[in-house]
Amino acid sequence: MEIHLDKKFTDEPWANEAEEIVRKCVHCGFCNATCPTYQLLGHESDGPRGRIYLITQLLEGRPADRETRAHLDRCLLCRACETTCPSGVQYSRLLETGRVMIEQQQHRGGLERLQRKLMTWFIPNTELTQTAVKLATPWRRLLPKSLESQLPLPGKNLHRPASRHARRMLLLGGCAQSSLTPETNAATSRVLDQFGITLISEANSGCCGAVRLHTSERDKGLRDIRQRIDSWWPDIQAGIEAIVSTASGCGVTVKDYGELLKDDPEYADKAMTISRLTVDLSELIYVESEKAPPHPQPRPGSRVAFHSPCTLQHGQRITGRVETILRQYGFTVVAVNDAHLCCGSAGTYSLLQPVISKQLRVNKLKNLQNIPVDVIATANVGCQLHLRQEAKVPVLHWIELLDNNDAHASFRAHS
Ligand code: SF4
Ligand code: SF4
Repeated sequence: MEIHLDKKFTDEPWANEAEEIVRKCVHCGFCNATCPTYQLLGHESDGPRGRIYLITQLLEGRPADRETRAHLDRCLLCRACETTCPSGVQYSRLLETGRVMIEQQQHRGGLERLQRKLMTWFIPNTELTQTAVKLATPWRRLLPKSLESQLPLPGKNLHRPASRHARRMLLLGGCAQSSLTPETNAATSRVLDQFGITLISEANSGCCGAVRLHTSERDKGLRDIRQRIDSWWPDIQAGIEAIVSTASGCGVTVKDYGELLKDDPEYADKAMTISRLTVDLSELIYVESEKAPPHPQPRPGSRVAFHSPCTLQHGQRITGRVETILRQYGFTVVAVNDAHLCCGSAGTYSLLQPVISKQLRVNKLKNLQNIPVDVIATANVGCQLHLRQEAKVPVLHWIELLDNNDAHASFRAHS
């Protein structure tokens, strides 16, 4: 696409990067076909090609207006368009630039600003979310379903095995997941223990930076990232083999640390090392299961619909791994229509754009439950909690399905 960068931006590295991205776009529109907001709203400016055009106008010096901001706000940042694009347009980087430009020019109204401030203050604050969970749990029966379904489920096994293996990896604790679905990381520790791996927990878990980066608070997001690097660095120096992410929304951000801090002389090398060390849990178990395959067992009542989060399939480009692992363990994984489309959770999107978010959830659950299934599995806490609100069957992190004594007995017997 042609672009004439405004003179005031020509010396800005971020603007030059954006210009390069725009030039790659050949305006073919293939991306519109897989864009959830374009499919729902049917407006060119609510699809990737139209949004690229709007951002191009900003880069050319056109002042931002409310309408442009509304179209960019409605983007889920799901990155389905990047997967589809034949020209390799890095749309998500461009969108983040466009959103920052708009935030600087167009101030939001008081209520909207307050909502965003509260969200970016509350969600990444692990201590605060844990306190809120503790206070709300005794009253869960009185809460509306939308809130009650966000609380940790009672009766889950939170036991973690003692450290006993020479192979040691660092578990990425995250902010929301450690408070709201603590069973995921506990199940991960137990399963990896069976593979001969000890998972070390972070001393001070906290937000990986994603929440603030995605709400255009770039500087604060980068501050979160530097804090995480400082917190993990002693374990990296002590020789951990990998950093394991059990929430694909966090994993995709941490894998991008190297790129995000490439111009920071103090942190660039450390950030790159961390990105290289980070693996999604599915990548790790896939490799470990290949070394010592478990024997499939017939499992009555084990029909699983897997919802692959956008941050796994489009962000990290990991496809088919979880499904393969589940089949290896004897589960029947059913085919899901429109599996490439977002469920509507998308980080803070479900709070900021509730109407679109709910419609996407209705569509996603229809596809996931199109044929009778016993459970929906996923790989990201945001999707899990979002889908759980309206699903007819339990919605779990897929690692919980592997965290089963029979499967491990089978694995041990054949390893
Ligand atoms: S598919 Fe790629 S090249 Fe085509 S319009 Fe979309 S972003 Fe541009
Ligand atoms: S990131 Fe998702 S919602 Fe945004 S333009 Fe791309 S496909 Fe559409």
